[in-house]
Amino acid sequence: MRNPDISPSDMLENEKGFSLPTKQYSIPDIDINLQPIRSFKDLFHLKALTRSIRAPIVKNIFSARVINLRSIEALKNARRSLEDVYFRDYDTSMIQIDDLHSINVDLSYEIRELKKDTYYLEHGEDYFIDYLSKLYNKFDQHVSKGLEFLDNLNFNCFITDRDGTTNNYCGHYRSSIQPVYNAVFLSRFASLCTENPIFITSAPLKNFGIVDVSVNPDNVFIYAGSKGREFLDLDLVENRSFIDPMKQTRLDELVSCVGELEKQEEFEKFFYVGSGLQVKFGQLTIARQDVSNSISEEESLNLLQSVSDIVRDIDPEGSVFRILDTGKDIEIILTVDGQNGSKDFDKGDGLKFIDNRLNLRLDRGPHLVCGDTASDIPMLEAVLEYTDDVYAIFVTRDTELAQKVLTICPNTLIVPSPDILLTVLGVAALTIKRKKGRRASGIFI
Ligand SMILES: [Mg+2]
Repeated sequence: MRNPDISPSDMLENEKGFSLPTKQYSIPDIDINLQPIRSFKDLFHLKALTRSIRAPIVKNIFSARVINLRSIEALKNARRSLEDVYFRDYDTSMIQIDDLHSINVDLSYEIRELKKDTYYLEHGEDYFIDYLSKLYNKFDQHVSKGLEFLDNLNFNCFITDRDGTTNNYCGHYRSSIQPVYNAVFLSRFASLCTENPIFITSAPLKNFGIVDVSVNPDNVFIYAGSKGREFLDLDLVENRSFIDPMKQTRLDELVSCVGELEKQEEFEKFFYVGSGLQVKFGQLTIARQDVSNSISEEESLNLLQSVSDIVRDIDPEGSVFRILDTGKDIEIILTVDGQNGSKDFDKGDGLKFIDNRLNLRLDRGPHLVCGDTASDIPMLEAVLEYTDDVYAIFVTRDTELAQKVLTICPNTLIVPSPDILLTVLGVAALTIKRKKGRRASGIFI
């Protein structure tokens, strides 16, 4: 007979799947209560919590398991906490760096993406797409055109950039956690319509890199960081390309000298805005501006000058480093030996390194390449060296860049925003007739 003191909910609690091997699917019971966000540390902690909820939500969706409503509530509270800072007084939405310094923050990415996620989870995909369509001009036309462009194809390689291409730009890399809807659309396409789906980003792979901001199920994507110099394959094995030890020593010296700048009051903020300081494999990046231009031009140029001086001190001959200034980030990249002397390592070199290790059969198309800036063009050019059977989708409103991509690859579609690309891929995967689609383990569909 049952003990009357034990309530049905206690029994459930006691029996909760402990004998079942389903622990990997459990969504942690983290109550993200309404909490004050006063520092970047608070912000990044909160965003890390949303990742630990979002990742198992995605895993459950792909395994045809229903998620609990408490997790949606936690995501809502995370959003409310951010809105509390952001909308309290728009002109002074400040986050403190320390007791003395604070900086204006743009939290619109974080708020918007959390809102989309809860809408997606509460209303389902059809209403969600309808919601997205209200955010962009000519959304339906772009999506229809995209579906026509993909033409029910199965792709061998799906090679894509992340930030600005499949992910909306975020003011702070560390808090640019991939949303649930984004992971569902992308992973569905990658699993069902492609053999070798690969992210190539210039951000690091780990600590803190693409792996730390992604919530796609494991074994779906190959993640390549530092423009492809390091990658995690589908068996989660880490691969790294060779770096000349002499060059590595100079890079270590550079990292230490640039790191010292944080101690100077006028440079401290650059360690928190935009990309912040990122130490990559074969590369160092430091932000000099963020997406909402919160740094004055004068301060931004001062940092560029100081960093350039450090580089010149360490590499007076200019043979070890290349400085690439995107206007937002200063990238200092170790050179590699090219046809005409040393050149900077690009995403095309990265793709060739991955191919060298994994044998992607690049001669066998069709391939799909997606990007959003000129730094993504080398990966498109690299694929075209092997076959003409290449499709490209670029996310840009820059007509000059669009024209350049079209010249290199006539089979190119231009779309204006990452959400449109995601919708095209997510919907295409629902209608494409599967041929040799690859399914990662644990993926039900
Ligand atoms: Mg990009």
